[in-house]
Amino acid sequence: MIERLEQLTGLRVYPRSVVEADGSTFFLARSSEGNKVLGILGDAAGFEGEQRGEVLLCPLALANAAALRDQLPWLRPQPLGLKKSAGCGDRLGLATPGHVRVVRQFSGIAPIFAQQSVRENARTGRTPQQVLDDATWGVFQEGWREPWGADADHLKTPADVDTFIAARYTFYTVDPGDHVDNEAHTAARGVLLEKVHALPWNMLEDTPQALDKRYLERTFDLGGGFELAFSEEILLRAAAKYGRATAHTVQMYRHLVSMMGDRPPSTSSGQSFELEVSVDETETPTSPHEHFFVASELKRLGVQWVSLAPRYIGRFEKGVDYIGDLAQFEAELVKHSSIARHLGPYKLSLHSGSDKFSIYPIIAKHAGDLVHLKTAGTSYLEALRAIASIDPSLFREILAFAHERYDEDKATYHVSADPAKVPAPDQLADSELAGVLDLFDGRQVLHVTFGSVLDRFGQQLKETLAQHEEVHYAVLETHFRKHLTPFMSPNESSGSV
Ligand SMILES: [Zn+2]
Repeated sequence: MIERLEQLTGLRVYPRSVVEADGSTFFLARSSEGNKVLGILGDAAGFEGEQRGEVLLCPLALANAAALRDQLPWLRPQPLGLKKSAGCGDRLGLATPGHVRVVRQFSGIAPIFAQQSVRENARTGRTPQQVLDDATWGVFQEGWREPWGADADHLKTPADVDTFIAARYTFYTVDPGDHVDNEAHTAARGVLLEKVHALPWNMLEDTPQALDKRYLERTFDLGGGFELAFSEEILLRAAAKYGRATAHTVQMYRHLVSMMGDRPPSTSSGQSFELEVSVDETETPTSPHEHFFVASELKRLGVQWVSLAPRYIGRFEKGVDYIGDLAQFEAELVKHSSIARHLGPYKLSLHSGSDKFSIYPIIAKHAGDLVHLKTAGTSYLEALRAIASIDPSLFREILAFAHERYDEDKATYHVSADPAKVPAPDQLADSELAGVLDLFDGRQVLHVTFGSVLDRFGQQLKETLAQHEEVHYAVLETHFRKHLTPFMSPNESSGSV
C-alpha cells in the first residue's frame, strides 16, 4: 500500500500514518522540500485540497485537522484519569513525533502531547488551537492510537480558559498562585488573625467557627503511621496563605464546569475534562499541613481534580536538576503522597519537571503510579541540540542572541544562571556547541530566551528542523528516555518500538 501511495503521489509516505477508515485511505506524506500534506485515497468529503490523480492532497490546515479528527477518533485528546502521565510541551509544534516514539517504549505512561500555558502562547505567538493541531498531526504521522491529553496550562483567570475550551482541550491546569499570600508564611499571629478575618468567607461557604471545628482538636490519620494535627497557629497560617487561592480555584472550576455545558467533570478516563490544581510557581513551599488544608477545602466545596502540584520544598529551576536537600525532599514527599492517596486519590504533579534526575527515583518510590511529570521547555532545548549538529552557524547566532536577551527575558522564570559562565559562540569549535546544552548556565540562558529567539529565528529554526526531522526526533527520544525510565517498574518498560 505504501509503495502504491508513493507512486500515486510522487511523495514520501510516513508508513505509520497510513490508515483506512470507512473505505478511504488516509496518510501523511512529505515532498522533497520537506512540506507535509495529508493524502486521501477514496471518499474525501469534508476535506479541502488539490486532486493529484486518484489522491486528494490537503494542506495541514485548521479545517483539515478538524475533519481528520472527525474521521479518526484517536486523534482527539481525551482525559487520562489517574493513569501515570507525562506532559510533553512542544513550543515549536514539531516535537510530537519524537514524543510519540519514546512514549511508545513505555507502556505504563499516558502522554499529554498538547500542552501550552497562556504565557507560552503569548511568547510563541501560537493559539491553543494551533498547539492542538500540531500535536494532532504528530500523532497522525506516528500512528499513535492510545489516549493522549491536551493540557491548558497555568490558567489564571476565567477569561484564560475560553479559547482552550473552544479547541476542546481535556486537561485544565488552574493556577491560583496570584492569590496565595506568601507573607502569611512567616507573619506573626496578629497579622494572621487579620488576614483570616478578611478572607472571602461567603465564597468559601464557611465561617471562622466552622473552620476551627473542622481542623482543631482532632487528628487526621493518613495511613502508614502518618498523622496530622493542626495547632491554631498552623491552621491560621494555612488559611491565611491559601484561603483566597482556594476560593479562586473553586471559582475557576465552576466556570469550567459551566462552560463545558453537558460535558461532565471527570476524575476517571472516558469523560470530557479533568482538572489540575497548581501552586508550583509561588515563592514559599507548601507544607504537608497546607497541602492537606487546600485539598480538604477544595473537596468540601465540590471540586474534583486528578492532579495537584504543591510548591515542593527546594528549588525547581527551569531546565536543570533539583536544587536542595534530597533527604528533606523525600521526607516531605512521603507526606504529600499520603495526603494525595488519602484525600483523592489524585496524582502529584511535578512542574518544571524536566531534568530533575536526582529526585525521580524518590518520587517513583513513594508516589508510585500517582504521578504527573510536566515538561515544556526541555523539548525546545533538545531542538537546539539538533540545530547545533545540523547548522552550527545558526546555533551560534541563537546563542549570541540568547546572551543578549537573558537579563530581560528571565524576569518571570525561576532561574539563577550566570550568563558569564556560558561560553560565547566564538570560543567554541563546532563539535563543542551542543555541549552548551549540558551546562547548567547554558541550559537556563537558552531556556528562558525562547520567545525572543523564536521571534527572530523561528522561521529558520523550524525549517531547519523540518528538513532534518529524524535528527530532531532522535535527540528527543534519547532525552525523554532518561526522564521516563526512572518511573517504570522493569516489566512496564517494553523496550519495543
Ligand atoms: Zn508550572
